[in-house]
Amino acid sequence: MSIRSEVGSGTTSRHGGSLFAAAAVHRDDDGNSLHAPVLVLNASYEPINVCAARRALVLVLKGVAMTEEENGHFLHAARVAMRVPSVIRLLEYRRIPHQSRALSRKNILLRDRNTCQYCATVLPSSELTLDHVIPRSRGGSSTWENLVACCHACNRRKGNQSPAEAGMKLMREPRAFNLHTSRHIMRLMGRSDDKWRKYLFY
Ligand SMILES: [Zn+2]
Repeated sequence: MSIRSEVGSGTTSRHGGSLFAAAAVHRDDDGNSLHAPVLVLNASYEPINVCAARRALVLVLKGVAMTEEENGHFLHAARVAMRVPSVIRLLEYRRIPHQSRALSRKNILLRDRNTCQYCATVLPSSELTLDHVIPRSRGGSSTWENLVACCHACNRRKGNQSPAEAGMKLMREPRAFNLHTSRHIMRLMGRSDDKWRKYLFY
């Protein structure tokens, strides 16, 4: 996802890379299983993140995490067949800095649930833009608190004005991605996956 991984970031490529290069050749399962979302639990079973199955397998192979639930697919690499996880759990408890999620277009759209914050229309990501609530030309910064999802029509209408000047109103005050928001997103993603449910709905 989407939700950027904060778990062991940047340390996996060398170790995992060669295995998965081999896997790409020998894989006889459907290729999408490596991109399937995997729920990441802290050692305490608290859900903390979602990552792609490929990354989850690297964490398991490195001994950083263990598989709690499988998704029913196999990954065949060299002579080894690995079960692809659906839920993994970190073996060591990590303190997660919830306030430090990367500020990105993707995360802003996730936070705002792909909903234009002025007219409340829900749109695919490709039809949304980011609006600086206080325009950049007037000193508005690129921060969680000043960026919102916006449809092109509202963006044009607002132009170089503040919402008040344009006679427009924000659906809600934009805030940084926090624990509550990410839980909400994990729940939305996990709603259809029985294996996630017991970790997310309690
Ligand atoms: Zn709009």
